[in-house]
Amino acid sequence: MINASGYAAYSSTTALKPYSFERRDPGPKDVVIDIEYCGVCHSDIHQVRDEWGGSIFPMVPGHEIVGTVSAVGKEVTRLKPGDTAGVGVMVDSCRECASCKRGLEQYCEKGMVGTYGAKDRRGDITYGGYSDVIVTDEHFVYAISPKLNKPAVAPLLCAGITTYSPLKHWEVGRGRKVGVVGLGGLGHMGLKFAHSLGAHVVQFTTSSSKTKDAMRLGADEVVLSNDPDAMAKQKASFDFILDTVSAQHDISPYLSMLKLDGTLVMVGLPEKPVALPSMAMCVPRRSIAGSGIGGVPETQEMLDYCAEHNIVSDVEVIPIQQINEAFERVLKSDVKYRFVIDMASLREQ
Ligand SMILES: [Zn+2]
Ligand SMILES: [Zn+2]
Repeated sequence: MINASGYAAYSSTTALKPYSFERRDPGPKDVVIDIEYCGVCHSDIHQVRDEWGGSIFPMVPGHEIVGTVSAVGKEVTRLKPGDTAGVGVMVDSCRECASCKRGLEQYCEKGMVGTYGAKDRRGDITYGGYSDVIVTDEHFVYAISPKLNKPAVAPLLCAGITTYSPLKHWEVGRGRKVGVVGLGGLGHMGLKFAHSLGAHVVQFTTSSSKTKDAMRLGADEVVLSNDPDAMAKQKASFDFILDTVSAQHDISPYLSMLKLDGTLVMVGLPEKPVALPSMAMCVPRRSIAGSGIGGVPETQEMLDYCAEHNIVSDVEVIPIQQINEAFERVLKSDVKYRFVIDMASLREQ
């Protein structure tokens, strides 16, 4: 076994603390990664606090993992020691169902295996990236260009692919008018991608203080969602709206901004069900949809796209000792736009 150390939640009500555990010895298809950076995703907080139910403790969160390959099993072909590599939200799936065969492992009919807080196919509990080393099957390890700034790459593995995938699926690009609702970890990546894909992008935000930043990140227009006149001007003009807000909110104002056959995609996962304004859905014909992360091939495609177009996340790098404080700040949206843990801080204690 490989000794690992990290930070874990021991229960849903206590702060994260240092934790020592073991990783499996690498099998023939496994890649061992020395973790250098791990992003802090809002879902880490949901799961640490057992807000979705079924959390397993102790829990080592983290599914935006970047590091350097230190060893590979003898059947591994895509990666070698010294390569920069990443692990995202999942570490396994059945590989046999229709979804897996289409490269949509996140929608595996038998359920994908989460990077942390899940039971893998061996029956072992998975531990995530708030730690110094991870052993993962090659199929779920991504090659990352050394050109990209490592800490700023980490959030691409969850926030990046969660926004890239729906933009690609609904064919956002030149000639399309696209709205992005919310300017946080997800929203700022959606904005960067939509802009890069050539769309006319309108950023919706509740705070006028974010206007300048949204323009810098690629918005063509910024609309304050609490300004009824500004909102009314956008009526029935969008092809696509990406709603990244995780707090409970009313989607009707955004729905009424879609043109005929426009689509509103929700990726923010509010806790309670969202009310559907049926009249606004029917006249004119409009769609509401959801989307979850991305499959393995699309995640690699997104990382390659980012290397080609020099896209990374805007991050605030923290030592792991500040993780509990960082959680509180994420809940207050007080971060621009993603915290990333520098795992060198783990070795310092
Ligand atoms: Zn995430
Ligand atoms: Zn499957």
